[in-house]
Amino acid sequence: MRDAETQGLVLYSRNYKEKDKLVKIFTESFGKRMFFVKNFGKSPYASSLQAFTDGKLTATINDGGFSFIEDVSEVVVYKNISADIFINAHASYIISLADAAISDNQYDPALYGFLKRSLELLDQGFDMEVVTNIFELQVLHRFGVSLNFSECAFCHKTVGPFDFSYKFSGCLCPRHFDEDLRRSHLDPNVIYLINLFQEISLDELKKISIKAEMKAKIRQFIDGLYDEYVGIHLKSKKFLDGMSGWADIMK
Ligand SMILES: [Zn+2]
Repeated sequence: MRDAETQGLVLYSRNYKEKDKLVKIFTESFGKRMFFVKNFGKSPYASSLQAFTDGKLTATINDGGFSFIEDVSEVVVYKNISADIFINAHASYIISLADAAISDNQYDPALYGFLKRSLELLDQGFDMEVVTNIFELQVLHRFGVSLNFSECAFCHKTVGPFDFSYKFSGCLCPRHFDEDLRRSHLDPNVIYLINLFQEISLDELKKISIKAEMKAKIRQFIDGLYDEYVGIHLKSKKFLDGMSGWADIMK
């Protein structure tokens, strides 16, 4: 048990007993921790502990059991994420991916920073599908998955077009297409963009525009990668998938 100060991003909260809540916070200094907040409705920090909120915590951190909040300051609320159901659904999915990618209590300030930056970009109106795809690809390492989309797995040629082979867990150039008769037959622009998304720093991300048809191809390919190599089924992802139908209705 120790008293500490750390930045922290609220992942989610749930009711606990009658009036209390458990709030899961991704802290910069101590990884993801579950905080117990007694009598939540009357807590002076209730509004600072909503989802999509980042702040500076003064807290008692326990390595076994719950941690406790003593103070929250410098609170940043991602207002557009809270207000827009589409941005909200993308942010919720990114948050649940970050939650699934590492164990609780595991120190990972890089993932904390990456998650926070992703939410900032969503809040600022960057393309939500693109930000989500970048997050999905760059978090793969945390699931123990390392894929190279920059060269042919056989001859290491770095200039495309490339296709993807699940058999070799890598890309194939046209000279090596026949190594895998069941290669993915992707649009080569998919691999080009996937490689770009895997390498890009969020700080370099400009507002880019990708056609809906290409976005759908990228979505389908990343879903395939997650099915094959990660194998998690998140409720927030199912919700997001179901939502793509509404977007057309609400236009
Ligand atoms: Zn090759």
